[in-house]
Order: sequence, then structure tokens, then C-alpha cells
Amino acid sequence: MSKKEYIVIGLGQFGTSIAKTLMQNDCEVLALDINEEKTRALADTVTCAVTGDVKDPELVTGLGIRNFDGAVIAIGENMEASIVATMIVNELGVPHILAKAQSELHAKILRKVGADRVVLPENEVGIRYGNNLVHGNFFDAVELSPDISVMEINMRREWEGKSLKQLNMRARYKITVIGIKSEDGFEVNPDADEPLLPNSQLVAIGRNEVLNRLAEGR
Ligand code: ATP
Repeated sequence: MSKKEYIVIGLGQFGTSIAKTLMQNDCEVLALDINEEKTRALADTVTCAVTGDVKDPELVTGLGIRNFDGAVIAIGENMEASIVATMIVNELGVPHILAKAQSELHAKILRKVGADRVVLPENEVGIRYGNNLVHGNFFDAVELSPDISVMEINMRREWEGKSLKQLNMRARYKITVIGIKSEDGFEVNPDADEPLLPNSQLVAIGRNEVLNRLAEGR
């Protein structure tokens, strides 16, 4: 099987760490940055490092990325460049476009111009460590597809003492609880009639937007 090929545009901390991770996972990586210092720093690590402005359409179309497996747009501050980059790779037909945003508005625009997944890394890390500080054992979500994840959700006061059946989680939140973590350990496939205990966490599968909302306590 041939190696998967990705383009990473923008080699700040986020883009660089994704490019390195993809290489460690035996993928081919074409890295692009306007700043020659950045491309030179990664030249020996990635398959190919190119210096140039992503806003130059001839440069990007000339890279031959049409048949690539995915693209990462890791430009934060230069919003115009990040939008143009997302639009161009989308127009070229590259699937699986992951783009980094700096604000909710930026994220919304990136989705509109073709990003399949938008991340606000600082927000996500803040939420994770905030939860970690309070609950200690908060684990990262496991992403099963761009829309669906398995995530840990902290018990809410109003859920305590009620059973999963009573709470009607599936119909109400469109999530399925596959496990419950408590001081007693981890219960897989929990009994839907058992009352939920305080200080426990539900492990649920569902759509990211719903899980994120519940994980954030909203
Ligand atoms: P990080 O937090 O990941 O370090 P950041 O969110 O601060 O990065 P920037 O530093 O604004 O994002 O941009 C990331 C990279 O994108 C930089 O290395 C920058 O040189 C590159 N970049 C910015 N504009 C362009 C462009 N028009 N074409 C190609 N690369 C660009």
C-alpha cells in the first residue's frame, strides 16, 4: 500500500507538530510556509518543504496535491491566508481538510470555504486542562470520525440518583452512554436502571457538538 500524502500549510508550533506526527506515522508530508527559516528548519524532517505564499494560486496548484489524502491549514494570525489556503485545497478536491482557527468567527468562515474539521487549539487545551484540574482523571476524547467521538462527561447534579433510562439520554441528547467511571472502577455497558452516583463520569458516544457542550457543562 502506498503511503498517505498530506500537505501542511503554515509551520508554526501547531503545523510543525502535526507535520512531525504525520511523518512519524509513516506518511509523506509536503510542508509549505512563507517564511524560509521555517521551511529550512523542517527540510530534513518532512518529505518536501517549500517556501512560498499560499495566496499565490499558481504556486499551490503547481504542487500537485490533487490526489493527496488530506490537508492541514495551520495559519492562525493571517486570517486571509488561512481562508485562501482552505479554499484552494478544497477547490483542488483534497479530502479531509483540517484547519486551525483563532476565533469562532474564523472557524465559521473556514467551514464555509471547505474545512471538514476546524480546531481552536488554545480553547480545546484550556477546556481539557480546566477539567483535568477539577476532576483529575479527565481523558481526551477519542475521535471516531470528524463528527463523532467518545468522550467523558462529568456527572451533573440534576442527573444524580436518576437512571440512564429515566434521563432518556438517547432521545434527549442523542448520545449513548457506553461506560461509567466512578470511585469503584469502570463499568462497561452500564445497567440503564441503576441510579447514577455523584462524582462519577459518563463515557458516551455521540456527535462532537453535543458531547463538547455537555463536557463543558452547558
Ligand atoms: P502557532 O500558534 O501554531 O505557532 P500561529 O497561530 O501564531 O501559529 P502564525 O504564526 O500566524 O500562526 O502562522 C503560522 C505559520 O504560517 C507561520 O510560520 C507563518 O510564516 C505561516 N504563514 C503565514 N502566512 C502565510 C502565507 N500567506 N503563506 C504561507 N505561510 C504563511
